[in-house]
Amino acid sequence: MFAIGGAQAVFTNRKGGVSLPPYDTLNLGFHVGDDDAAVARNRRIVARAIERDVVWMNQVHSARVEVVRPGHTHVTPTCDALVCDAEEFRRLGLNVPALAVMVADCVPVLIASASGRYVAAIHAGRAGIVRRVIAETARVLKRAGAGGDTLHAAIGPSICAHCYEVGEDMRAHVTQSLPEAWATTRLGTPALDLRGAAQAQLREEGIAVSFISKRCTYESGELYSHRRYHPTGRFAGLIMS
Ligand SMILES: [Zn+2]
Repeated sequence: MFAIGGAQAVFTNRKGGVSLPPYDTLNLGFHVGDDDAAVARNRRIVARAIERDVVWMNQVHSARVEVVRPGHTHVTPTCDALVCDAEEFRRLGLNVPALAVMVADCVPVLIASASGRYVAAIHAGRAGIVRRVIAETARVLKRAGAGGDTLHAAIGPSICAHCYEVGEDMRAHVTQSLPEAWATTRLGTPALDLRGAAQAQLREEGIAVSFISKRCTYESGELYSHRRYHPTGRFAGLIMS
């Protein structure tokens, strides 16, 4: 666990859970073919470790952002970003939940304001980045009142630019609107730099990038990679006030 702005962030890996191969062991995704009971148990293991209720998303590669409000923390909204104003919970004497994003190559982005009052978790995959999910989240955060507070971001482990090979057409399509995503693999074939594109979008929104993981999901055996091991599980980034 580490500090981002005035909040705490953590990225899980494959260790510490109960799922069997090929999902071994801390798979947090229900939608990938794993045993539901094992996933539910893994999610409880994570919640217990961080001593918080966790709000998860039903992620659909959109730019849809949901604000998590008191009384709705048991719901799993269909969206790709969650935003929370911790003050809404504290005012009612309630525990502030952690917000979670699940990934296995996509870019997990966690945001917290300097005061820790506002936090967000974003699923920034190729489609989400093209649809500007980061800009949309920044807009919702500011509308919730975070505008006066400096925002900090942590970019978690994702597939690196050298490993994310795509067709020439796909690279041309994505880099038309996101020139920062242009990349090549080690062999010189077309690739996309999702991490670089996420970083560029955060800076565009005036969000300070305080942490960038250098770990590549495709290259690390400790993380799930959709590209490398299909089917596979999902690890998570969690942010909490
Ligand atoms: Zn890589």
